Amino acid sequence: MTLPTRDAVLAALRAVVDQDMPAELGADVVSSDRVRDIAIEAGPTGANVGVTLTLLCPGDPAEASLRAQAEAALRGVPGVAGQAVEFVVEMPTSHLQTANRLPGVGHVIGVGAGKGGVGKSTVAVNLAVAMANAGVRVGLVDADIQGPSVPIMMGLADARPFADDERKIAPLLNHGVRFVSMGNLIGRDDAVVWRGPMVGRAVTQLFDDVRWGELDVLLVDLPPGTGDVVLTLAQTFPLAGAIVVSTPQDVAFADVTRAVKMFEMLKVDVLGLVENMAYFQAPDTGTRYDVFGPGRMTAHCQARGLALLGSLPLDIHVSPASDAGHPLTASAKNSEFAGMLQALAAVVCKQLAVRGLVRSRAADHSAFFGAAPAMPGA
Ligand code: ADP
Repeated sequence: MTLPTRDAVLAALRAVVDQDMPAELGADVVSSDRVRDIAIEAGPTGANVGVTLTLLCPGDPAEASLRAQAEAALRGVPGVAGQAVEFVVEMPTSHLQTANRLPGVGHVIGVGAGKGGVGKSTVAVNLAVAMANAGVRVGLVDADIQGPSVPIMMGLADARPFADDERKIAPLLNHGVRFVSMGNLIGRDDAVVWRGPMVGRAVTQLFDDVRWGELDVLLVDLPPGTGDVVLTLAQTFPLAGAIVVSTPQDVAFADVTRAVKMFEMLKVDVLGLVENMAYFQAPDTGTRYDVFGPGRMTAHCQARGLALLGSLPLDIHVSPASDAGHPLTASAKNSEFAGMLQALAAVVCKQLAVRGLVRSRAADHSAFFGAAPAMPGA
């Protein structure tokens, strides 16, 4: 019996495509350098072939599809009797942005909103916990200095972080997330009266004076709106991208547009919009109510070329859980709401990873040829 060659296996794997990869990077797993191992062994009825492919982030949404495609491709190789597909996670970083300021941090992303009260902090906290659940090393900066709600939502409202011998602050840790908030450093109500420059200095400290260690993703819960404070902050951080949170009303989209324009002006990639309180599903009858009227966010996003990353319901369990310091992603992992946040976390991490890959290829390209290709969608 002749065993299939490594080249024959590689040729078959060229048919395996990650639907989230931009075609110009080479969407198939061979051109995009995602085959880590190939083992070919003789079995009683033919060859057993094992391949190891990379996933671009923990919980990579493409995993099931990559597995099915790879198994089918291997079955098609003459002489193969059995096949096994394994994965290792290799998350590309945005190091170009973070190298100087935050050397151990892979990606920094802002969570913003055109106005307050839309659930920005709720989304930021649950997104962070969902990422941690998936195995992402994640941190959270509460940059919403004048309304810090992260300490309560994270269940450590009264904790005070310690500074070490070099006056670096160790972040607090709960639900798998490392986080800092002015609410923990000076007391929840004291920063409310601060003015712009003080806020800017304080938040810069939250970044630079914290010993973050190694993180795949650092989320920044930005203040709401598009005023001076948030502008300064968004400029201060090496943001690899931003997510905008909004409620579904038509009028809310005007705020979304302003927030998106602000990030665009600052050359921060907007990953997309998260629609919060999109509908209410009665837990007893299952009837779905469009509380704010029939939402047109999908149409608005399409018209604006903005990705709709997720639509979260108004859920009666969200507020009590947040107020008790047990976000649903930590305390009710099997709930529908937590499931939606897990899906959102996977989509966001994948986008960051793909963008990191595009940036590093662009940097390689410019090192050789002087000019970088444009970011897809930019
Ligand atoms: P923001 O950060 O935009 O000011 P918050 O995250 O503090 O908003 O949320 C405002 C209030 O709405 C909080 O009481 C929060 O618990 C509640 N809330 C947010 N999202 C939801 C949701 N999807 N379902 C139910 N209540 C929510």
